[in-house]
Amino acid sequence: MKKVSDRLNRLAESATLAMARMSRELQAKGIDIIPLSLGEPDFDTPQFIKEAAKKAIDDNFSHYTPVAGLPELRSAIVAKFKRDNDLEYTVDQIVTSTGAKQSLANVCLSLLNAGDEVLMPCPYWVSYAEIVKLAEGVPVEVPSTIDVDFKVTPEQLEACITPNTKMLMFSSPCNPSGTVYTQSELEAIAKMLEKYPQIYIIADEIYEHINFTKKHFSMGSIPSMTDRTITVNGVSKGFAMTGWRVGFIGAPLWIAKACNKIQGQITSATCAIAQKATERAMLAEPRSTTQAMKDTFLNRRDLLVKLLKDIPGIRCNIPQGAFYVFPDISSYFGKSDGETSINNANDLCMYLLNSAHVACVAGDAFGNPECIRISYAAADDKLREAMKRIKKQLEKLS
Ligand code: PMP
Ligand code: GLU
Repeated sequence: MKKVSDRLNRLAESATLAMARMSRELQAKGIDIIPLSLGEPDFDTPQFIKEAAKKAIDDNFSHYTPVAGLPELRSAIVAKFKRDNDLEYTVDQIVTSTGAKQSLANVCLSLLNAGDEVLMPCPYWVSYAEIVKLAEGVPVEVPSTIDVDFKVTPEQLEACITPNTKMLMFSSPCNPSGTVYTQSELEAIAKMLEKYPQIYIIADEIYEHINFTKKHFSMGSIPSMTDRTITVNGVSKGFAMTGWRVGFIGAPLWIAKACNKIQGQITSATCAIAQKATERAMLAEPRSTTQAMKDTFLNRRDLLVKLLKDIPGIRCNIPQGAFYVFPDISSYFGKSDGETSINNANDLCMYLLNSAHVACVAGDAFGNPECIRISYAAADDKLREAMKRIKKQLEKLS
């Protein structure tokens, strides 16, 4: 009998990857889809990083490396954390993985027992809830709304803490809302957490370099949080290296050791060549490498927010980082074009995909079912055309 495990049955397919798959299927049939669903920079990896990888091939970096990564890569990450984030780690506190996604899974599998609760300010990145469930933990959604820029307060978080709370997991800049917590907001959350020493924090900083506010701030740099924070980062977003598959953590030594053990039984180290490319990326002064991409994202954000404001019934805040907008589209719920009824964000996304040929992702999987996520990792003309199509399609709903 072909029967998958209960564990697999409990797991949802990644909503972002599912939408990307559906877009590709329609594109393969010759349909002109504008894919704004996948969170992936549309830039090429910077040339000097590619050169480092080519050199690594010629230098025969073709062997297994230590599970946590090459020592020289981990040293470069230590230097990066110190230079950019005011974080003091030693080399053995760094574990590199096959993407930040694996880093997150390593941490959850290392720390969570069945029934442990994980606080997740909404909206959160799709894979958080599923990774937590895979580790037999319980995702606890802490709601927020667009009116407060999708930020949660220490009081709201504290109201969700129970004796089973083990972790807080969040991204800033946030995927999908683009929300960036300020230093003082994070300090206020840290102050509250000081009362609960049993709670660990996963600070996902993968969008660090796509931050339109003055400065990125790391939760782990707050002295009372250092021993409880796992800082997750990677090269996918800031360095346009999604396909290279390198993410990493800086963590208390015992947690780094635990992640090393888990990874040693599942994947071993990530690709040696990608590690050498990442080492080069980490050693580079970040501004000169990432600033041009960030500037382009900022211009696109402004364009997209302006175009969205022109569509009746869509409410949009102004994201401060990452490359997504997360507008509230709930005013369309209960409407129909005579053939298709829109009852939720999923219906709306499918309607836009099939009728306007624009791919977005429904907010449900991010813990906020009133919204949809639109990625602006696409050229201006694509964004203009996509918004024109969306506007025209939504006009048909009443
Ligand atoms: N965290 C967040 C918030 C993300 O958006 C992503 C995007 N894929 C990841 C982690 C994982 O990134 P990767 O595995 O490509 O390093
Ligand atoms: N993180 C990206 C996104 O949110 C990439 C897809 C994924 O890994 O889920 O779209």
